Amino acid sequence: PPAPIDLKRYIREVPDFPKPGILFYDISSLLGDADGWAVALERLSRATMACAPELLAGVESRGFLLSAPLAGRLGLGFTMLRKPGKLPGETISLSYGLEYGTDALHLQKGAVKPGQRVVVLDDLLATGGTLEASIKLLGQAGAKVVGAVVMIELEGLGGRARIEGLGIPLTSLVTYQ
Ligand code: 5GP
Repeated sequence: PPAPIDLKRYIREVPDFPKPGILFYDISSLLGDADGWAVALERLSRATMACAPELLAGVESRGFLLSAPLAGRLGLGFTMLRKPGKLPGETISLSYGLEYGTDALHLQKGAVKPGQRVVVLDDLLATGGTLEASIKLLGQAGAKVVGAVVMIELEGLGGRARIEGLGIPLTSLVTYQ
């Protein structure tokens, strides 16, 4: 049988972006390749289905690129975790710490039904701060978060331990040291 496709082939590594010394994993090259993107969606779909969700949640903004097509494919709805000032109507929010300063995520009131099984998706896990805030916010909204799925996991930054420490199973498609 042919060897399984290595998704790393499609992920471009950009040195010194967005700041000197940072190696940025760019998924644009994966999104732009029909074969690579199809394989990625198939694997994300399996990982997501394994958690038996009733709703998907995507983290702004690259998480939307995963959650929207997956929701369509799985016959589910999805909701957006957004930066401040983007969502109309009443929202609930949670602030979280960044390397420098803080940021916040918002979710529309009523976006999640009480006890609804939700899988949260983002493109990349580094320190886990973004995903942790997302999981906590969904929890505050009454969701039962049943899993977190990311395309890329950077190991050695404590992200996995942080998410699993919340009792949430985490699946990633590719890992980098
Ligand atoms: P964390 O909160 O886990 O430290 O960082 C994860 C967040 O930063 C994700 O929302 C992700 O989109 C973004 N991010 C950080 N570094 C990279 C990178 O190298 N590539 C991509 N695509 N996103 C990154």
